[in-house]
Amino acid sequence: MSVTDYLRISLIDRCNFRCVYCMPEGEELSYLLGPELLTNDEILTLVTEVFGPLGFRRFRLTGGEPLLRPGLVDLVANLAALPTTEDLALTTNGFLLADLAADLYAAGLRRINISLDSLNPDTFDLLAGNRGRSRWPQVWAGIQAAHAAGFDPLKLNVVVIPGINDGEVEALAGLTRDRNWHVRFIEFMPIGNDALFGDRGWISSESLRDRIRGLWGLDDGSVLGAGPADVFQIPGAIGTVGFISQMSECFCDRCNRMRLSADGWLRPCLLNESAQIDLRSPLRSGERLGALRDRVAALLAAKPEINFKQRDAGTTGRYGRTMSQIGG
Ligand code: SAM
Ligand code: SF4
Repeated sequence: MSVTDYLRISLIDRCNFRCVYCMPEGEELSYLLGPELLTNDEILTLVTEVFGPLGFRRFRLTGGEPLLRPGLVDLVANLAALPTTEDLALTTNGFLLADLAADLYAAGLRRINISLDSLNPDTFDLLAGNRGRSRWPQVWAGIQAAHAAGFDPLKLNVVVIPGINDGEVEALAGLTRDRNWHVRFIEFMPIGNDALFGDRGWISSESLRDRIRGLWGLDDGSVLGAGPADVFQIPGAIGTVGFISQMSECFCDRCNRMRLSADGWLRPCLLNESAQIDLRSPLRSGERLGALRDRVAALLAAKPEINFKQRDAGTTGRYGRTMSQIGG
């Protein structure tokens, strides 16, 4: 059983994309209002007074789209400067990254994951739910800016949707041959858009691996912060190829993370809605931080029993929150 020392912090539930696998089609999502979001000071208090003393050392900022969060660079600088922060990373769709990459790096961020589901602008826009001018060039520019700023490792996340972008697996994996980039293929999960999942299903990492292996061969590989990914390397490549296989392989026994939503709910398992606790209300009502820490410690102790296998989609069969709302 892994020690839980990793917290994913959602900074905002809003997003400037509407990816078809992340959000339900044609349904209005209600977003949190500004005062409902944890403030930067509240996040720092929770990290220093609650999570730090409980052994959390690694943090990932996510959303929604974290680059939409006002005050992001300051928050990164404050979190990076904490003596207990051993690792700080961020996941973004990259759309606003070209202008922010250098500032984020200067603030102390070193690791970044950028979602890039396709190299084809039309397919990319289809998946990102974009109907206007293509957003692909700006995301590509964001990736280049992150590369130029020095982010290492720079990871590219690809959610593979059957019949939409699965034909690009080789081309995306091929990016790692002459770039120090780390492409990670993620199995599509039934969270966010049930209709799309029902129509399309998901493709196993194993079958993708076999295709890449058949084309170039695949050696074992490694990359900093691999988490649940199985990492490989095309022979002679500079970067790596990773597979996150939460549908085909249960990695609950290796799970070392908790998730804090933008409105302060702490969730020990991505797919378990009942086992979460509200940290914002007690924090705002002035509860002793030691008491708050005790509650989080109790949830940590219960975490091994709360896992993906017992996922509780509720009586409607749907999860109450999308990945963008939970903080994927
Ligand atoms: N907006 C940022 C982004 O897209 O990178 C960060 C938040 S997003 C919720 C985090 C990750 O969750 C992204 O890599 C996204 O592709 C992934 N994701 C969203 N919905 C998913 C689903 N139904 N199945 C698998 N991965 C999903
Ligand atoms: Fe937004 Fe990320 Fe969800 Fe896409 S995957 S809609 S970019 S939160």
